[in-house]
Amino acid sequence: MITAISEAIFVINSAGVIEMINPLGAKLFGAPAEMLIGQTWTDYLQSPFKDEYQSLFALWNSASDEANKVTQFNHGPKEIIINRADSTLLEADLSLSCLPSIQIGSEPLFIGIMHNLTTHKAEYNKLRHLAHTDKLTGLANRHAFDDALQTNWNDSINHDQPLCLIIIDVDYFKIFNDQFGHVNGDKCLQKIAQVLAEVLPSNNAMAARYGGEEFVVILPNSNPLTAEYIAKNIQNRINQLTFTDIGLPAQTKISVSQGIACERSGQYRTPTALVCAADTALYRAKSTGRNRINMSS
Ligand code: GH3
Ligand code: MG
Ligand code: MG
Repeated sequence: MITAISEAIFVINSAGVIEMINPLGAKLFGAPAEMLIGQTWTDYLQSPFKDEYQSLFALWNSASDEANKVTQFNHGPKEIIINRADSTLLEADLSLSCLPSIQIGSEPLFIGIMHNLTTHKAEYNKLRHLAHTDKLTGLANRHAFDDALQTNWNDSINHDQPLCLIIIDVDYFKIFNDQFGHVNGDKCLQKIAQVLAEVLPSNNAMAARYGGEEFVVILPNSNPLTAEYIAKNIQNRINQLTFTDIGLPAQTKISVSQGIACERSGQYRTPTALVCAADTALYRAKSTGRNRINMSS
């Protein structure tokens, strides 16, 4: 009967041995139904799901309160990872239910209904990436920055590690746009973003577009000296950018001003206070002549 149902279904006994599986279910496990019947279903689960279901079945077999164990055992859709017969992994959701005993004293059976989540997951990951990425520069966007700052802030406080922030603002960018047009202005922002992505010292560091022609770099577990070294590197590389490849005059130059703030031992009470301190330092870098780096004291 289950072969006719257009869901991936398998039936197992209380030892976890597959008694029935329909073609759609077999397809998810990656082997023909004939091969799967008689095998232990948890052999097709990736850790930690394998251990989780093995414990659940052990618990089922040792518990005596029939009514209570059924309610504890049954569950609605839950994400699992199937370790398929060919060793590829497949993300699925699984609902598991204990079938009422057909006759008194007969062995209980369990029915699993699965859905392949591969397409949904791929779509979800794509949308998630889009939601966190700045379209023009490909850097993390403001939303991703806010999340990352909070996470890094918590880590910094919990592990008593320093956290530095650099805010970067393009100098006289309005003039650049006025002279060369917004399309070239956009290309300039892309070049700047590329520099920022290249100078990051580790995978934990993040460069983001804060908004407009302002960028931000998060440097977890970094001291002010490292932050200053990175800011100088950014300054040098941006001063060296050329624009002849986009048809602008050879003498076209660009610079940025940068403000740095570092949280070391509780001087800032919130992530926002750290951003404000870096912003104030940036303001000083601007007011003292631009193309400068200022460190919050
Ligand atoms: P300052 O040195 O004081 O920072 O001067 P500025 O001209 O850079 O500052 P201002 O805030 O006056 O101008 C920022 C300019 O950045 C104006 C705005 O059109 C431009 N801008 C912001 N976002 C974008 C963008 O996505 N593309 C382009 N092409 N221009 C942008
Ligand atoms: Mg600005
Ligand atoms: Mg500016």
